[in-house]
Amino acid sequence: MIDRRAFLFGAAGAAVLATPLMGAIPRLPWDALAKRLSGTLVRPGGSDFAALAQPNNLRYAARLPIGIARCRNAHDVSASILWAREHGVPLVARSGGHSYAGYSTTGGLMIDMREMDAVAFDASTGIATLGGGSRNATFEAYFKNRNLAITHGRCPSVGLAGLALGGGIGFNMRAHGITADHLVATEMVTADGAIHRLRDGDELMWAARGAGGGNFGINTSFSFQTYDVGPRTVFNLTWSTKPEEVFARLVTVLERAPHTLGSKVSAVAPTASSGIQVQLLGQFEGTPADLREMLADVYAIAEPSGSVGTKPYWEAQAFLAEPGTPAYWQERSRFFDQPIDHRAVATIFDGLRRYPKTAHEAAFKIFQTGGHVNARKPGETAFVHRKSLWLSSIELYWQQNTPDAVLRQNLAWLDAYYETIAPIAKGGAYQNFIDPSLVDWKNAYYGGNLDRLVALKRRVDPTGVFAFGEAIPR
Ligand SMILES: Cc1cc2nc3c(=O)[nH]c(=O)nc-3n(C[C@H](O)[C@H](O)[C@H](O)COP(=O)(O)OP(=O)(O)OC[C@H]3O[C@@H](n4cnc5c(N)ncnc54)[C@H](O)[C@@H]3O)c2cc1C
Repeated sequence: MIDRRAFLFGAAGAAVLATPLMGAIPRLPWDALAKRLSGTLVRPGGSDFAALAQPNNLRYAARLPIGIARCRNAHDVSASILWAREHGVPLVARSGGHSYAGYSTTGGLMIDMREMDAVAFDASTGIATLGGGSRNATFEAYFKNRNLAITHGRCPSVGLAGLALGGGIGFNMRAHGITADHLVATEMVTADGAIHRLRDGDELMWAARGAGGGNFGINTSFSFQTYDVGPRTVFNLTWSTKPEEVFARLVTVLERAPHTLGSKVSAVAPTASSGIQVQLLGQFEGTPADLREMLADVYAIAEPSGSVGTKPYWEAQAFLAEPGTPAYWQERSRFFDQPIDHRAVATIFDGLRRYPKTAHEAAFKIFQTGGHVNARKPGETAFVHRKSLWLSSIELYWQQNTPDAVLRQNLAWLDAYYETIAPIAKGGAYQNFIDPSLVDWKNAYYGGNLDRLVALKRRVDPTGVFAFGEAIPR
């Protein structure tokens, strides 16, 4: 049977943009929604509409909502969900807006969480509770003078909602676990409008630690167990000569490094004017001299340029931060469940050499996992990737004016490259680097946890109110 929502908006919501122009959309009682909100309702043409609607990945910027409910509390979120359901309007939650695949865009109602960013801190337990629309920057602003942290990301504008719900990687993860491992409670509004306070023992709490945003409801607060942090030695080094040899030695050295070292290694694709470069970015709970000694075998191959220095924790994070400026891109990820050996390095560099050099920028990057990321069992939380050594991702950036034919050529390169990496990596794909071109995404994101997630989805969202291209199926 076709339900009212699918009839009005098309199964994937694709007809939404066209429908108002064709005059087929019924008049919606926007005033009734506005009256139910303590926050504001923004309609197309309204103040800030364009800025609020824009996703971080501009590839999806043309998909615009027909209304944005700027929620101030869980009751606003509940009212928005119920109003949207009553009138057959598709909905999505938007926090940081950094979904790789633009899954917080919609042709329906955007439930904007960004005004819900209050922070409360219980010094006796070290538990910090942040509003559901908080971002990495919200956490940093509150905790930067307190020497406390969770495992956070590098981009200030990424939402803690998307980050924590999908796992959450960061340079602290090898020493302390992923972001979701510090989530001790969350408040969530489900499809029926009910507000739940979830803790250990609740099935939705298990899912909140890794199933990914947008699947089961809208989280209106997150409580994290913080931990003490001290100074970090941070480094940003680049090698421009002997890149393949450097990369091979670097991964071998890093695979033996203590868990107090967190790193990202990038092999940047060649451009018309330069060859492949290798970059090492990260932090270490040791001295610059300790780091130099650890990397001695790599320095013996070639001297890098760049900088190394010890800083107080949050200054160190500012050094490591990435701005996350909105751009056009696609990334494809794969966990390496085994060491990156010489054969893997040869495959990685072969793919980079095939880069057509016609788009803006491309790279193969690996974030070092292992350590406390693997301290939990795959079924203990919904984040199943608990035996990896690295998380790899091939990134491709282009510009608005990149001709279609050039873009197609570059995307074909990305896909062909990815097909060579997946079999040697042997692990799944990261649900927070959500990838609309991944075919076997259900198994790649969730592995042995998939059936349990599907059963939960059937129970709490039987009609699929929370739907997007790669939503957990029911
Ligand atoms: C520049 C950049 C840097 C990044 N850095 C990191 C990093 O260091 N570590 C890492 O692990 N990942 C990182 N990511 C990936 C990031 O974790 C995911 O893209 C994440 O989904 C973004 O969350 P968001 O709230 O910003 O995005 P949104 O697009 O707002 O939301 C993502 C998904 O969650 C849903 N959602 C939003 N808010 C809520 C809510 N309150 N309750 C329930 N569902 C919700 C949305 O509907 C959507 O499906 C980065 C991404 C970018 C673009």
